[in-house]
Amino acid sequence: MSQLDRQLFNEVMVPNYAPAEIIPVRGEGSRIWDQQGRDYLDLACGIAVTGLGHCHPLLVKAIAEQSQKLWHISNVMTNEPALKLAKRLTELTFAERVFFCNSGSEANEAAFKLARRWGNNQSPEKNEIISFYNGFHGRTLFTVSVGGQEKYTKGFEPLPGNITHLPYNDLETLADHISDKTCAVVLEPVQGEGGVTPATEAFLKGVRALCEKHHALMIFDEVQTGNGRSGALFAYMEMGVTPDILTTAKGLGGGFPVGAMLTTAKLAETLAFGTHGSTYGGNPLACAVAGAALEEIARPETLANVRARGVQLRQGLEQIGRRYGLFGEVRGLGLLLGAPLAEAWKGRAKDVVSAGLKQGVWLLVAGPDVLRFAPALNISEADLAEALRRLDAACAELAGSAGAAVA
Ligand SMILES: *Cc1c(COP(=O)(O)O)cnc(C)c1O
Repeated sequence: MSQLDRQLFNEVMVPNYAPAEIIPVRGEGSRIWDQQGRDYLDLACGIAVTGLGHCHPLLVKAIAEQSQKLWHISNVMTNEPALKLAKRLTELTFAERVFFCNSGSEANEAAFKLARRWGNNQSPEKNEIISFYNGFHGRTLFTVSVGGQEKYTKGFEPLPGNITHLPYNDLETLADHISDKTCAVVLEPVQGEGGVTPATEAFLKGVRALCEKHHALMIFDEVQTGNGRSGALFAYMEMGVTPDILTTAKGLGGGFPVGAMLTTAKLAETLAFGTHGSTYGGNPLACAVAGAALEEIARPETLANVRARGVQLRQGLEQIGRRYGLFGEVRGLGLLLGAPLAEAWKGRAKDVVSAGLKQGVWLLVAGPDVLRFAPALNISEADLAEALRRLDAACAELAGSAGAAVA
């Protein structure tokens, strides 16, 4: 067996990723350790997934217990963990029906298929899907086409048709374009991958009203904003707008792959017997872990920590931004924050991530120009303070070397 190092990646894996040099082997709470035993504070959570930190005892217990009972049964039969999780999701949200799958892309694929089928049932012309530039909805051909970033669809043509992209937070353009031929309007309450850009409340309320007027479905993609990340269980809850369909994944399983599409009883009828499916969807192992995660996330103490640590992180970032001039504004909700880089640093988000790793802190990018922070919902004040100290050191080093290069 050859050495399990970064070089081996290039030799055995498809090159669609460019992973960092370090290889993590262990995690606990908001820390991970690499093969050399170095620790990193985690402000990334595997892209907003491990919302309760690494190896949370309740999740370890849930997966260990379920692993002794039943792993997989398929949807030829239902199972207790799936029933329990669906029951809780309907109790805790607007939804009355749940469809389970394994990822955010699949949750959106189900939502878009539901919308198309629902529209086709009304009239043969009602099949337009409206979405927004810089939106991200997944990487299957349908979801990547609904997403509003050309770089992700380039070369994969022909793409699914009748999808219209409009500017985000621009109600007037939407009002000009939407019609009775629109079957759904799809958006993220905070655009995550596209730059951590929150929707304005006026925009969301306006979209809701336009959807009513034209009898179109409003779909909230809460794959990234959901499961406590915004400071509420789902972001829609604090925005005064309720969607017809909500999709989620990422934080739902706390690190175990699981996704869900939530909707009303009436709309759920659109996906009648045999119209859609998934072999693994609603898998007992996934649903047992997600069930344990959901109870922990929905606790008022967890959500209160998201809000408190969100303020701590925002203030810490603003200080670092002022000190080194790398970034100014900090935007986002709860523990999903973004810092757009200052003009002189544009395009260098990846360099900041590399500098952070050198100092022992892991953060994310949202495109080339924005730093993205998505720490665990239960990160402690002390861990977050230490992460900010390490980020400060990383920015000091970058700013210093930039200074040196100019001098
Ligand atoms: C990550 C993400 C997806 C895709 O989820 P996968 O699990 O990678 O398929 C979809 N929508 C949003 C908003 C996301 O952040």
